[in-house]
Order: sequence, then structure tokens, then C-alpha cells
Amino acid sequence: MRTQPLPDFVSADVDLAGRTTLALPGRAAYVAEVSSCRQLAQLASLRSARRFVLGGGSNVVLSGDFDGLLLQMAIAGRELLAEDADAWYVRAGAGESWHQLVLWTLACGWPGLENLALIPGTVGAAPIQNIGAYGLELADRFQSLEAFDVERGRLLQLDRAACRFAYRDSVFKQQGWHLDGSHVVTSVSLRLPKDWRPLTGYADLAAELDHRRLARPDALQIADAVIAVRNRKLPDPATVPNAGSFFQNPLVSAELGGRLRRDFPELPCHVQPDGRIKIAAGWLIEQAGWKGRDLGRVGMYEKQALVLVNRGGARGSEVMALARAVQDAVRQRFAVELSPEPVLL
Ligand code: NAP
Repeated sequence: MRTQPLPDFVSADVDLAGRTTLALPGRAAYVAEVSSCRQLAQLASLRSARRFVLGGGSNVVLSGDFDGLLLQMAIAGRELLAEDADAWYVRAGAGESWHQLVLWTLACGWPGLENLALIPGTVGAAPIQNIGAYGLELADRFQSLEAFDVERGRLLQLDRAACRFAYRDSVFKQQGWHLDGSHVVTSVSLRLPKDWRPLTGYADLAAELDHRRLARPDALQIADAVIAVRNRKLPDPATVPNAGSFFQNPLVSAELGGRLRRDFPELPCHVQPDGRIKIAAGWLIEQAGWKGRDLGRVGMYEKQALVLVNRGGARGSEVMALARAVQDAVRQRFAVELSPEPVLL
């Protein structure tokens, strides 16, 4: 890459301090500020040892310097593509803020994304891990996406089946595309059905609506309640750097789940359609003694044990040391393996 002149939207030796919500130190050999598909096509000709796509930086642990090309996605735009008797169809550029998209659809009078309010990150990152919250996941509202295949230099359209969505999972993770930067999401299209029904079954959300005496909330009221619950439980990265939930909620076999339920009747468990049991990672971490506990300059947040926070000045190695300590403690106590949600870069 160094033998060719750099396009004007690519910078060399860039400080990454402000680019991830965990606020970890590190520099990138190159950063491309990508605001169009045309720029992605230009990048296809640049050879780089490593490539990584960065959105809002809310799901990344920087282990140190990154000796490659970081694609900072900034493709903007959101629009109503179509409307029929059944639904509104909206499209947004990969660089848009997910939360701002949710607020925009609600302000336009198109319900459907309210349970996903205040999830950090960009629109382009949303399908990678099939973001979800309070009983709704992106896959439920997904229509299609466009992704640029960097190696072949062409734009692909992926429908819901092609994205192979599962719990916090998609073809991008299954194929390792999220790690090698070979397929870059450029826009996402959603289908918001007019036959809207409130999803208010989750205990925290139900309690908040109850507290507000909203027996039949509309979508905006649900979004407000979700925002309030999240603000109460989750730290604002601007003041307490963090990457949201640091571990996935484990899906265990019916056999292991049954055993855990017998041994720990308080353990929050949810049976999945495929018979596996989803257990609350936050509860496991709390019971293993890590809620509100620090290791050096990092710790597990006192109001939500699933969130790993940077208490100030931490390095990526400290984050990973704490993650390993928490994994070890949970494994010893429950024989359950916790998988980190963020990508280690
Ligand atoms: P929570 O509501 O305390 O739930 C903990 C666990 O119990 C999660 O595995 C959740 O499943 C499950 N659960 C709770 N109530 C359930 C119900 N009525 N039916 C089925 N499963 C139920 O979790 P939290 O940590 O405070 O987070 C709130 C919501 O935000 C959760 O839905 C969580 O998954 C979501 N969240 C998502 C991301 C992300 O997409 N990366 C990051 C942070 C939080 P689910 O995980 O399937 O909801």
C-alpha cells in the first residue's frame, strides 16, 4: 500500500483514542473515512495486510496499534423507500447512528423499532450481530442490505435468508467477514409493518411502563421507557467508557440448563424454540463475585455486571485480563463458558 499515493480520504498513522467507546489507546497505520461506495471501489486496489470496518466503535477492544487499514464508515442518508398497504420500507446509510434512525422513524409515525432505542453504534453494524433488545431483534424488521465485496469490487444485495441471522449472529460473523473487512455493509433496508403490536413482555420494560401507568403504550412511549431503563442500567460511554454488554448471554443445552436450574433456582433462564436454554450472563457474573469489582484500571459495572468499564487510562491488555478473570470465575462456579461480544482488534 505504501508504494501508491493515498486517496485523499485515507490518512496515515492515526490516533484511535477517540474512535472506540472503551477509549483504549492505539494507532492505526491507515484510516479511510468512507462516505460513498465509490470510495470503497477505490480502496479495492489498495493492498493492505489487514483491514477492519469500524462503525461507532462500540463493539471493539483495541489491543494496541493496528497495522492495517481501518475503514471508518460514514455513509449517510435515510429515506422512505416505499409504502404499501402493509408496511413502510426505509433505508439508511451504514454510517448513520442507529439510535437516530430509530428516533427518526418514530417521529415520522412509523412504529416498529422502539424496543431497539438507544443501542449504540451505526446502522451498518446493526446486522453484523443482529442487534436485539427487549424481545425484538433487527432480523424481525430487516428487509435487505447492500454490502460492498472489496476483493471483487462489486456491490451485493443480501436478503434476510442470505444474512443467516441468529441470536446476536449473522453471515458476517459466521464467515469471518466482520474480522477481515472483505464485505462492507453500505446500507440497510427495513420493513416496518403497519400491523404494529407493542412488545412489552420483558420485566424491566413492563415495570417501567407500569410505573408510568401506561397500560396501552404507543411506540413513542415504549421508546421513552426503553431509553429510561437503559440510561438507568448502562453507563454513558462519554463519561464511563464501555462497550455495552461485554459477554453474550450463553445458550446452553437443555441438559446443562436443567442441571443449573436445579442447583441455582434463582438463575434467570429462558427456553428457546430449539430447546436450548438462554441464561443471563449478568447474573452469572454477579454470583461469581465480579459485579462492581475492579482489576487494575478496569472493572465490571456496579449497576449492570455484564458491562465492562474503563475506569480511566486502561490499555486493551487490561480489558482482556479482566475478561479472562471473569470467564474463569464463571466457568469454575457454573461450568458455563462466556463469550465476549466485542471484537478484539
Ligand atoms: P435483561 O433484560 O436483564 O435480560 C437478561 C437475559 O434474559 C437476556 O438473555 C434476555 O434475552 C433474557 N430475557 C429477559 N427477559 C426475557 C423474556 N421475557 N423472554 C425471553 N428472554 C428474556 O438484560 P439486560 O442485560 O438488562 O439487557 C436488556 C436488553 O438489551 C436485553 O434484551 C439484551 O439482550 C439487550 N442488549 C443487547 C445488546 C446487543 O444487541 N449487543 C447489548 C446489550 C443489551 P435477550 O438477550 O434475548 O433479550
